[in-house]
Amino acid sequence: MDTNLGIQQMENIVGLSRPGEAPVGFHIQNLEVARLSEEALSALHNPSDSDVKRQLKSWSQEISPSVKSDQLRKNLRSLSLNVTQICNLHCKYCAAGGDGSYGDPIKKISVEKTIPQLRFLLEKVPAGESFKITFLGGEPLLYPEAIDMIAESAQEIATQKQIRLSFTVVTNGTLLTDSNVDLLCKLKAHMTISLDGPAEVNDQLRPTKSGRGSTDLVLNGIQKLISRKSELGSVGISGVFGARNPDLISAYKFYSSLGVDWFDFTYDHLETRAEVSRDFTDQLFQVADLAWKKDKEKALRQIKVFDHYFQLLDSQQRNENYCGAGKSFLMMDARNNLYTCPWVVGRSKEVVGTQDTLSSEKLKAYEKPLVELNNCGSCWARYLCGGGCMYIHENKTGSKHRVDENFCERTRNLIGLALLYYEKSRSQLEERQTL
Ligand code: SF4
Ligand code: SF4
Repeated sequence: MDTNLGIQQMENIVGLSRPGEAPVGFHIQNLEVARLSEEALSALHNPSDSDVKRQLKSWSQEISPSVKSDQLRKNLRSLSLNVTQICNLHCKYCAAGGDGSYGDPIKKISVEKTIPQLRFLLEKVPAGESFKITFLGGEPLLYPEAIDMIAESAQEIATQKQIRLSFTVVTNGTLLTDSNVDLLCKLKAHMTISLDGPAEVNDQLRPTKSGRGSTDLVLNGIQKLISRKSELGSVGISGVFGARNPDLISAYKFYSSLGVDWFDFTYDHLETRAEVSRDFTDQLFQVADLAWKKDKEKALRQIKVFDHYFQLLDSQQRNENYCGAGKSFLMMDARNNLYTCPWVVGRSKEVVGTQDTLSSEKLKAYEKPLVELNNCGSCWARYLCGGGCMYIHENKTGSKHRVDENFCERTRNLIGLALLYYEKSRSQLEERQTL
């Protein structure tokens, strides 16, 4: 790997360095970031006593009262639902049973069953709070009528209960007909389009069932969304990268030309090899450098992972839960069974609820913060990472709560890079104390 990130730790302080960049110190508990001198950086791992070392120790011992612990994820605030479990594409790495079906190809969710179930779930949300519904599949736009009916009823319930509702649609982008785009605009939907890079890559990885490429259709659809962007919540692109799709740099250049709001470089959930993970990290470092060169913080924060860390640092909010699985988030399959995560759909042992039940007994297993459940207590990055993805951990180690070291190495490096860029962004706005 060519990331060349130096990471030194002394108690609550982590020193981060990279060739050609000013070193940065990070307070693990307080989420504070400050520029370090070279002398302070070497004092972090130097056993001898010095003035600068004493200053670092005193910084380490300060615990800021303004840092908030993670209260956001305790109550149900978001639901994803599979309106269908079939798909018109045949993506090479599809984790949903290889064909979007999760092993159970259901063409249409029962809207009649779903609406009372939504009412049952929305009953748990206090007035004045917000709630997010994400339509997934299979390909959700194969059944737009269900999206329309479910969204309309959910909106009625939310209005009665004074809940602020928002909608997200995750689609492969091949079915963005004029009438579907009208529907998405009616919902002011936040759009996530799956696209793995330029046509020569995406056509290989995301062919239609007949084997033809899907990219032209997707690009056409994205243009329609862009032309009506003011009527939508946001438009972003998510691609899957790993051994089959290693070139993040070409993908970044391509995504940047499409006029969307954001991009997400998702690591292939099923990939377990350390060298692939390192290559991915290295490429994402290069993408971040390109973005910074292009338009500093603005371009860097178009990349979802960096925006996420910047938000946590700005809000001084510790992230103790990588995701809300089983806490703030539930997943509904097209048979109206409830799960804690999209990737466990179809596993009968993982069902935590049905049409009119939600097992508090089963959800108890998810009650504690993920940093605690996943034993992340000694990791310097824990309050920005939040304990990682249980699905990725389980795929590698056989247990949701035993961490995948590749995930951790990747995450700590990306957090380190985000911290270096965060300091650069903020030091341009204000004078900071330099140790
Ligand atoms: S990087 Fe790994 S050990 Fe650290 S918080 Fe994340 S999952 Fe836990
Ligand atoms: S466990 Fe992983 S895949 Fe499942 S909801 Fe959480 S982040 Fe997503």
